[in-house]
Amino acid sequence: MSSKLDPITQAIRIQTERTQQQEHSTPLYLTSSFVFDEAEAMRAAFADETDDNIYSRFSNPNVDEFVAKMCALEGAEAGFATSTGMSAVFGSFFALLKQGDHLISCSSVFGSTFTLVTKYLPRYGITCTLVPANDEAAWEAAVQPNTKMIYLETPTNPQLEILDLEWAGKFSKKHNLILNVDNCFATPLLQKPIEYGADLVVHSATKWIDGQGRVLGGIVVGRADLIKEIYLFCRNTGPALAPFNAWILSKSLETLDVRMTRHCENALTVAQTLQSNPHVSKVKYPFLEGHPQFDIAKKQMKMGGGVFCMELKGGLEAGRKFLDALQMLSVTANLGDTRSIASHPASTTHSRLTDEQRLSVGITPGLIRISTGLEKVEDIIADINQALEKSAG
Ligand SMILES: *Cc1c(COP(=O)(O)O)cnc(C)c1O
Repeated sequence: MSSKLDPITQAIRIQTERTQQQEHSTPLYLTSSFVFDEAEAMRAAFADETDDNIYSRFSNPNVDEFVAKMCALEGAEAGFATSTGMSAVFGSFFALLKQGDHLISCSSVFGSTFTLVTKYLPRYGITCTLVPANDEAAWEAAVQPNTKMIYLETPTNPQLEILDLEWAGKFSKKHNLILNVDNCFATPLLQKPIEYGADLVVHSATKWIDGQGRVLGGIVVGRADLIKEIYLFCRNTGPALAPFNAWILSKSLETLDVRMTRHCENALTVAQTLQSNPHVSKVKYPFLEGHPQFDIAKKQMKMGGGVFCMELKGGLEAGRKFLDALQMLSVTANLGDTRSIASHPASTTHSRLTDEQRLSVGITPGLIRISTGLEKVEDIIADINQALEKSAG
């Protein structure tokens, strides 16, 4: 595929070589292994002298197609796709860090990532310092002689704080650290961390990339030398992406640009509308002017993303009532779907924490997170408005 084509076109046009059937759409390669005509060809494949497929834990045509498209979109040299976003995050840590190494992570990272870096990495002698998103002095102070990697998400979940990628790129170069960015919330359509110096980009493809709530998947892309290590680690530990899921995800990438554009337009419109709602004390969205990092968001993101948050004046009780009063929006533990989704972390995902613990991770009692879908924006606004009325009653 000509690299002169725009990455968005490449995400549509990159395709596994046609079979003799001359199919237009890539077929599904449901096969665990691949056949060799000669012992010599098999030897050469095992010796890494050719890139023939051997076994679907290592590579598969559907998976390779998905990886090639993601590399085009992120501007990456290489990639490896995994069964879930978490196995991509896990692989990027365990393939590159060893006993005695130190990691600096943004403190507001995805819940399972938080558990991984605070509970499991230390068991293997890999220490981690958590640092608040925008406290540059704290990032500097956290660097140790054995620091190897920095890890961050932007926008963060659920507070939607924005970290300055240009700053992060310079910081990691200055200290000679691997910069590893979870780009799940923005997708490469809105933001390309590699352009700012990221060495690795990880994704939960389960979210906007599938975008239709059907399959789990993950991917890590970036510098070829680092991806080689991650590939070898994953090839031997086994978190391979299933060919069917890869087929779905590759098809999904063909519409990612049009979907993200509409998700972001809808999110901005709904967020703007809610700013004047009497039951809402605050709306947080990267492309609203009142956002604390509005300028950074504008600098590094093409659009504001599909997720926004609002704070209900009625607190915890209003949050619960709001969820119960919704008629169209889904109440579910996911985001990045054609269907709009509402969640209330304080009474669900974070209900076991004390108020104080919740506040330390930015979760206030009345915080509602909305993943804006592709429904007509008037219908989304109408459902949220009627639920807000009832939540205050
Ligand atoms: C969902 C999510 C993950 C984990 O992805 P899975 O596919 O569920 O394993 C990682 N990071 C972010 C930001 C996420 O939203």
